[in-house]
Amino acid sequence: MTPSPAILALSALGLQTALQIKSGMPNVIIYGLNTRVEGADETFENFGETVRQLYQTGHTIIALCSAGITIRSLASVLENKGAEPPVLAVADDGSTVVPLLGGTTGVNVLARRIAAILEVSPAITTSGELRFGTCLLNPPPGFELKNPDSAKTFIADMLAGKTVRVEGNAPWLADARLPLDDNGELLILITSDDVVAGENELVFQSLAAVEHERPRGKLSVIGLGPGNPDFMIPAVKHALQQAQDILGYETYIRMAGSFRPDQTIHATDNREEMQRARHAFELATTGRSVVMISSGDPGVFAMASAVIEALHESGNIAWHEVELEILPGVSAALAAASKSGAPLGHDFCIISLSDNLKPWEIIEKRISLAAEADFAFAFYNPISKPRPWQLPRAIELLRQHRRPDTPVVLGRDIGRPAESLRTIRLADLTPEQVDMRTVIIVGSSLTRSFPKTGGGEWTYTPRWYGTKPAS
Ligand code: SAH
Repeated sequence: MTPSPAILALSALGLQTALQIKSGMPNVIIYGLNTRVEGADETFENFGETVRQLYQTGHTIIALCSAGITIRSLASVLENKGAEPPVLAVADDGSTVVPLLGGTTGVNVLARRIAAILEVSPAITTSGELRFGTCLLNPPPGFELKNPDSAKTFIADMLAGKTVRVEGNAPWLADARLPLDDNGELLILITSDDVVAGENELVFQSLAAVEHERPRGKLSVIGLGPGNPDFMIPAVKHALQQAQDILGYETYIRMAGSFRPDQTIHATDNREEMQRARHAFELATTGRSVVMISSGDPGVFAMASAVIEALHESGNIAWHEVELEILPGVSAALAAASKSGAPLGHDFCIISLSDNLKPWEIIEKRISLAAEADFAFAFYNPISKPRPWQLPRAIELLRQHRRPDTPVVLGRDIGRPAESLRTIRLADLTPEQVDMRTVIIVGSSLTRSFPKTGGGEWTYTPRWYGTKPAS
């Protein structure tokens, strides 16, 4: 068995970073400097001695201190390149991850994984990996490089301009930028047979048996619905119960209910979606059951797309083997629509008014053409402080195609304690009535409203179009 990776923390700040790394890599052991760090799994007195001993006993080392100190401490025991464990230096505030040693034993893969947990970019310096977008020396679990000693020359040959052909199935190379050529002088061979590598060859043996020994991780991308647990589908409740790791915005995590002490919560702030998606896969590939929370439906302006895109872009076979499922939820438009009647009862479209991830011109075009084609609308992300003028412009476009008395439903915090629902006319719609927690439904030419007993209105769009069929 490979010994557990060791994280060495030399300060209280370092311990915080160590704990964050451990949240994504549960099998690590945190060693804390006895005079400075409280609350580590183990303590140590002398950094140099400890790091050398860990190195010589084959432990992966993640040192929360400078690269210089780490290398200097190991200098006297540095061994032959093929045999050493991965060694990394990580800034104690978690801002940088520097792979130092262990190129053939996966240090760059580990650096990427830790960087994903810390949501930073790893400082990869290996020229072959940078140029070719992959580290040939570190295939994913399930593959073994049979002739690592030849790898250095092989990569140097590619850097010098030689071309390469690939025989066999190497999914992790799919997105690599290798100098491929069917008549390449160099050969990458992937085989399940135990063959001896020839000159100018790299041979990867696929190890199906080893692969099956690892527990298969699971990633469920779930939608909570608008907020009220009664609107959450049972499969989502089940996934939340089964989860070992829960990822999502703090608000959504709170909305999801209470968790057990054995469940690890990873409350994410407003970081980039793709990074959060990669973090989820990194956790799941360790064999864990991971749940990624979105509000409403995870496929509607939420995490499911980012998760699947991250998988599509990844050549890491371990990610592709994670059991991935997307569990739907009641999206804000549907929740608000049902409260007001059935305004989306005929053809409709959903448009986000946020131009953060798409150009405003396309939003205008879609609104104009959909309005002209007489769709009903649901608008998400309608307005925010940095985006004050977009909604007024959208209202202007809608008014070019809709009567002033077109019903408009404003649903705010639907399914949550502060829920409010108002039905007004398009002529009366102003940006002040709307915020980021509101979904706006704008009717088609046939959408109509009538008073409800006890106050409020029912709004609906009939099932027919044009003239009402005889009944
Ligand atoms: N995945 C979510 C949408 C995320 S985009 C879903 O399917 O519902 C965020 C936008 O959704 C908000 O700006 C708001 O327009 C809308 N929204 C989300 N939850 C809402 C709720 N409970 N009530 C009203 N609008 C909501």
